[in-house]
Amino acid sequence: MKAVVTGCAGFIGSHLCDRLLAMGMEVVGIDRCDRPWNLALALPSPRFHLVSQDLSTVDWNSVLHHCRFIFHLAAVAGVRSSWGQPFGHYCQTNIHLTQVLLDAALHCPTLERLVFASSSSVYGLVAAMPTPETTPPQPISPYAVTKYAAEQLVNLYHQNYGLPTVTLRFFTTYGPRQRSQMAFAKTIQAIAQGTPVDIYGDGQQRKDFVYVTDVVQSMVLAIHCPNLSGELINVGSGTTTAVQGVFALIADLMQKSWRYVYHPMPFGDGSPSWADLTKAQKVLGYAPQVDLKTGLLSQIKDWQEHYCG
Ligand code: NAD
Repeated sequence: MKAVVTGCAGFIGSHLCDRLLAMGMEVVGIDRCDRPWNLALALPSPRFHLVSQDLSTVDWNSVLHHCRFIFHLAAVAGVRSSWGQPFGHYCQTNIHLTQVLLDAALHCPTLERLVFASSSSVYGLVAAMPTPETTPPQPISPYAVTKYAAEQLVNLYHQNYGLPTVTLRFFTTYGPRQRSQMAFAKTIQAIAQGTPVDIYGDGQQRKDFVYVTDVVQSMVLAIHCPNLSGELINVGSGTTTAVQGVFALIADLMQKSWRYVYHPMPFGDGSPSWADLTKAQKVLGYAPQVDLKTGLLSQIKDWQEHYCG
């Protein structure tokens, strides 16, 4: 059973590859591979095939040959760096290359499902908490605009060509291998080094933080559940926690004192989030398994083992 994973060497993509390989699948992973160490578990497997290339140069005919599942995770992620000149790069990767992949997928007769990794950031500053999928998106960052545009493309290819797509809106994901620019990774590093933790805004904004293996589980469910084509589904923890409270918990779990410095909230950031999981539970049978304390402990342990010193 062959699956193709774009963004396979990224934070979430690498965990997905580990899981698919453990399930006995043949996995073709595509990535520019800035962080090849994320593939340390996958690479030794004879069923893992790495295409170490930019998506724009991939020979889709050969990559998608006999493919049953596509997981499209490759993207330029990050809200703050999406303003200004880098936006062109966000558009090229997150929108244009998504369309190229969708077009290629039309010529893959064995395809059973294409799972697209979207983001809760498309919701923006919404009033409805917890937020159901029926809430109209109001993106407040250029990054979120590109993810919403890509969602629309995925939907168009489903509506017009019957492509068997599922869009999952991931809420803020954390765990081992989290990108070093993301808040928890930065906080663990700052606390370990005794430097101040950056807090944007007043630190009281509440977010839905979901552990990476729960996100991976949602993708596995999304290829196995029948009658899902064209669906759009939230994937979060279903709980919400104040950012500063999480940082304090990290310091507590690391058994370290910590200092912090407040910064103004950057544009496009800071919207509270809280996933309404009613649909995920109903159509996917999704139920998050990892609580915040357990998940943070495993992210801290991973940092201490692999990045410390
Ligand atoms: P990541 O940056 O760790 O992984 C993305 C991977 O895509 C990277 O390894 C990168 O090298 C690869 N990539 C990007 N452009 C490429 C290109 N043109 N060709 C080949 N490879 C390319 O990001 P992540 O946190 O693992 O996020 C994965 C997906 O989930 C993204 O689509 C992101 O928008 C979405 N998402 C993530 C979060 C989160 O909290 N991490 C939340 C919501 C949605």
